[in-house]
Amino acid sequence: MRMNVKDMDHRKIVDGSYWEKIPAYKEISTETFRDYKWQSKQSITKPSKLLDVLKGLVSDDFIEDVSQGFARAPMSLRISPHLLSLIDWSNPYDDPLRIQFIPVASRLREDHPELRFDSLKEQSDSPVPGLTHRYPDKALFLALDTCPVYCRFCTRSYAVGIDTDQVEKIQLKVNADRWDKAFEYIQSQPQLEDIVVSGGDAYNLRAEQILQIGHALLSLDNIRRFRFATKGPAVMPQKILSDHAWTDALIAISDRGRQLGKEVVLHTHFNNPNEITSISQEAMLLLFQRGLTVRNQAVLQRGVNDASETMALLIKRLGYLNVHPYYIYMHDLVKGVEDLRTPLSTGLRLEKQMRGITAGFNTPTFVVDAPGGGGKRAIHSFEHYNIETGISVYSAPSVKPGLFLYYDPIYSLSQSIQNDWGNASKRQAMIDDALDVAHKNIDRY
Ligand SMILES: *Cc1c(COP(=O)(O)O)cnc(C)c1O
Ligand code: SF4
Repeated sequence: MRMNVKDMDHRKIVDGSYWEKIPAYKEISTETFRDYKWQSKQSITKPSKLLDVLKGLVSDDFIEDVSQGFARAPMSLRISPHLLSLIDWSNPYDDPLRIQFIPVASRLREDHPELRFDSLKEQSDSPVPGLTHRYPDKALFLALDTCPVYCRFCTRSYAVGIDTDQVEKIQLKVNADRWDKAFEYIQSQPQLEDIVVSGGDAYNLRAEQILQIGHALLSLDNIRRFRFATKGPAVMPQKILSDHAWTDALIAISDRGRQLGKEVVLHTHFNNPNEITSISQEAMLLLFQRGLTVRNQAVLQRGVNDASETMALLIKRLGYLNVHPYYIYMHDLVKGVEDLRTPLSTGLRLEKQMRGITAGFNTPTFVVDAPGGGGKRAIHSFEHYNIETGISVYSAPSVKPGLFLYYDPIYSLSQSIQNDWGNASKRQAMIDDALDVAHKNIDRY
């Protein structure tokens, strides 16, 4: 199939007072809606409050479904008016934004039997709490454990957000001592050149904290580049336009870095083209004009961006905003969101369809973050993929010895294989078989 974005749809970006169709926001002026303080204050953190805002928009059955969904969710709730306004409430079950942020019990599926808490083993690769050092020259610094919104599918649901009925979390709070230990460690490792400042989410750092972390990292001779990672632009672009202290702090660090010959960029996380409005466009233009590079890391999710038309539209629209589509991740094995995962074959198909639709540097690399700590692997580089059992096997020679397994979601497999996964000895036999074949393949090239 030839993948053209129809009629240049990627340039048709939602404009005007898109929030007015939500009765609770009908009277909200443009000025108020564009104020990040209003967006934060009005963000909904309690299911009961969400249900209040949605009264009259959705059926009682849907509301009941949401209440039960929350009772079973590993993530806490936080959703901005900006996002709520972008959901099509006449069809909430199929809306790509509803799917990412609001669980409904009727669509949940059982977790994969091989799913483990902290499946990426970020904690065991952490020399200092909140610093994961897995690759030789780059490390991941989790500066805090809160976010401007909470996503159902968060890979770090082991730490991010407040405790839920389902999960008691480890804490990675903003803490000067913990940060200093992280900076000391970074300084002590001369091969480290590159830091990802994440969390939680850098949007929730105060302007002074952006400056503090930024200057601390810039002052380290070994550090050549770093990125602030934030979902902010996708969930509350208003902040970039109205929290001047925060935006100025970010730009000041990037400017200072440039003077020192060091690269400071922003990594964000748009998953679906509907998350982009004219306000997002303005925010991205402001960052572009002030010289900041922005890259995007999306997660492949069923019903969100697994259709080729949607993925193509996302990629083209990001490029149109001068945001580089950097990665598309296979969905990690995360508790409670099996309904969101797609089989590896979906990623393989999409990658094939996307390559060629636009500039190579705006074409994302499709990766799987190998469970067990193998790190990111290009999805096509498997040693073996058994599409029947849904097992794929990767090696990561520059990261960690051994083989790493990724598992397609059970629902995507045939009924008889689904039954086999329910049986412990058959399960082990499928895994052993996949490892055997992978071992034979591994030295072929
Ligand atoms: C993703 C990641 C990085 C950065 O990797 P890139 O491929 O450069 O984006 C660094 N450390 C950890 C632990 C990561 O998961
Ligand atoms: S913004 Fe990022 S870290 Fe925060 S809940 Fe969402 S995916 Fe997790």
